[in-house]
Amino acid sequence: MKNYVFLGAPGVGKGTMSNKICSDEGYAHISTGDLLRAELKAGSELGTTAKEYMNAGKLVPDTLVADLLAQGLAKICAESEPPGFIFDGYPRTVPQAELLQGILEKQGLELTGVVQLDAAEAVVLPRLTGRRLCRACGAIFHLLFGKPKVDGVCDACGGELYQRGDDNEESVRQRLVEYNKQTMPLIDYYATRNLLIRLDAEGTPEENYVLLTAALKEWENR
Ligand code: AMP
Repeated sequence: MKNYVFLGAPGVGKGTMSNKICSDEGYAHISTGDLLRAELKAGSELGTTAKEYMNAGKLVPDTLVADLLAQGLAKICAESEPPGFIFDGYPRTVPQAELLQGILEKQGLELTGVVQLDAAEAVVLPRLTGRRLCRACGAIFHLLFGKPKVDGVCDACGGELYQRGDDNEESVRQRLVEYNKQTMPLIDYYATRNLLIRLDAEGTPEENYVLLTAALKEWENR
């Protein structure tokens, strides 16, 4: 099994790259942001608590996210046998990296590598504020860089497109602050464990995907 963490600033393309590689390779996609948004949509207590942190661009407390992740992973392991997992948006802090280690061990899994998607803030900011998502299937569009064929309608399933509550400029700036303060230390953390794969993610999604698949191939054959 090949298990990768996708690490990087908000807007760097973790979700887009995860969706594409999971659909091409059959990996299971675990996005803690998606799991939290599902709780929010379901109106659970956890979702209601998480919403305030999310819309303010802050990280949701570790215990809430770790439980959600462990449950999500256990469910997939019980129901199917994917060729691997893509962890998108988890871990975001060093304590979360340690929690992930324990959660993986419980399932008899280990990390193959950690992909650090890298792009300047000036590149990620407009990517986020113009982003639109499909309510039904989660497909990602962009008002400037990847417009849907019909305004407000998903090309893939016809679902309604919406803007995330934390994709406004104020929340995005706070999310970048959180990333720089809490998540950047993970780069050294994984580099010292010889797990880090650096990737330039300033190009188009198509260009970035070509770089990603080449980098993973090289990593697996090293
Ligand atoms: P994302 O969809 O990955 O951009 O995450 C959206 C928001 O969900 C983040 O800004 C956080 O508020 C919350 N979130 C997602 N993953 C985590 C995590 N690993 N730890 C804490 N909060 C998280």
